[in-house]
Amino acid sequence: MRVKLLNAPIDCLSMDQSVERVAELISAGGPRRVITLNPEILYRAVQVDHDLLELINKADLVTADGEGIVWAGRVTGTPFPERVTGIDLMLRLVDRAAAEGWKVYLLGAAPGVAEDAAKQLTRRFPGLQVVGTQHGYFKSDEEVAIVQSIKQKGPQLLFVALGAPAQEKWIDRHIESIGHVVAVGVGGSFDVISGRVARAPLWMQKLKIEWLGRLISEPSRWRRMLVLPKFAWLVLKTYRLGRKL
Ligand code: UDP
Repeated sequence: MRVKLLNAPIDCLSMDQSVERVAELISAGGPRRVITLNPEILYRAVQVDHDLLELINKADLVTADGEGIVWAGRVTGTPFPERVTGIDLMLRLVDRAAAEGWKVYLLGAAPGVAEDAAKQLTRRFPGLQVVGTQHGYFKSDEEVAIVQSIKQKGPQLLFVALGAPAQEKWIDRHIESIGHVVAVGVGGSFDVISGRVARAPLWMQKLKIEWLGRLISEPSRWRRMLVLPKFAWLVLKTYRLGRKL
């Protein structure tokens, strides 16, 4: 089931179901977009960036990325089964890719990071085929060559780690030229998988305070996190004070 939250579609799927959905998209073929939607991006799309809202509406799969979205689902009476974050979805898809023989391409992050992430992933998931990597600090006149190279390598799964919403916009600009691929924006996931950035400990993830761990390890994010109370207020105002957007 797909619901609307603040005019954005979100799929009410568990992690297992999201992985199945991606498998179906790969079988169906064609250019396919996956967005893991967190409160920060949703707030931005609804309040200031309507092109971004259009992109979210175009996506084939939109997952509830983070406790903020799961909470909003409870407030609006359409609960999401669980959070499906970019990094968790990526790890599950890569695991499945190793079993199914899907080819994977990693685009984004600082030079060297995607290669290191690829090494870690192939070590962890034997049989995984990472057919290419490309860092995310290219010039705009290099994009055509990058897109051609991705197309020629023919991945079924393209993970794009340029940060949101740049990655969603990049995917939208180029996915039609790449052709048959499922593209997933995964933010800072390559930094974590390569070992450059530590993920919050499991106990924090279980207590659903991973955002706090992230704030502690990267204090410069505090400004970005100010959007969370604004998002919460928008949800309450829209759905609890009877003023539907
Ligand atoms: N990045 C990139 N090219 C750019 C800007 C950023 O490849 O021009 C990468 C950056 O190195 C990092 C990721 O995009 O790996 C963004 O991570 P962040 O945690 O900020 O993204 P979020 O998960 O918050 O969207």
